[in-house]
Amino acid sequence: MRIFRRVLQSFNNSDDSSGMEVDAYVVLGASHVVILDTLLCPADMAFVMAVIEPELGNRQVLCVNSHADWDHCWGNSYFKHTRRAPILAHEECRQRLLSSEASTELYDYKKKSALFAGVTLVPPTLTFREQLMIADESMSIELLYAPGHCRDHIVAWLPALSLLLAFDTVEKPLPCIEESACTPLMFSTLRRLAALNAQHVLCSHGSNASPALLHENLAYLEEIERRARLFLQKHTPTATELEQAATLINYPFDEVVVSLTESFDRTFYSQAHEQNVQAILRWRMEETS
Ligand SMILES: [Zn+2]
Repeated sequence: MRIFRRVLQSFNNSDDSSGMEVDAYVVLGASHVVILDTLLCPADMAFVMAVIEPELGNRQVLCVNSHADWDHCWGNSYFKHTRRAPILAHEECRQRLLSSEASTELYDYKKKSALFAGVTLVPPTLTFREQLMIADESMSIELLYAPGHCRDHIVAWLPALSLLLAFDTVEKPLPCIEESACTPLMFSTLRRLAALNAQHVLCSHGSNASPALLHENLAYLEEIERRARLFLQKHTPTATELEQAATLINYPFDEVVVSLTESFDRTFYSQAHEQNVQAILRWRMEETS
């Protein structure tokens, strides 16, 4: 298996210069070459395919999208216009890529950076709901529905390698619940993935992920839930109070990252923490109302 890491310096006037990294994977099987995620633009995929070209032989090329976020699938058009290949994903991923929100987001990004000039939205061509097996002769890849980060998220489980490609379900320093409606699903997904007992876990943003990170991510969300429950026993927050959710439940971002030694995008992840706390508070409030 190969890992391709795309490093992107900040382009949206954030004062944090650490930028972002996102990984894509190539699994070279006996009869298939499976590209998992297509990074930021078709040029990224042209690079990946040029690197693996000598090894393609007559293998069937398959592409997989973990979910419809821009940093995971905006290279899809390569597999429509340059080298035709089926694109596999959850059916909600297809719907998201066909939505007007996706078009608006791409329009906005094109205004921010020339990097996205060549991007067109290409939806997945083969979709599933619960799971799909790629049964290569050398090793199978099980694509499993894993909602939580967003509603269309899938992971890839390679039992022969005991390897879980968790994409954005696991993240360093912390996972991000993008849609508050997905909050309970994030908990159940992380528990289900932990039960796989994978020896190796990789995630899209977090360079040196490990099985421990999966458990740390779950423990972090459970700690938010614990503090949210304690808080809600005493008080039901107003909409305005919810804007300072991490302060409300007394779980400041600095406490979350206190033992972290690596550099990370503080602006992005402190907002993500705030969003996670809001999502979990809202979910607990709905559950108890
Ligand atoms: Zn991502």
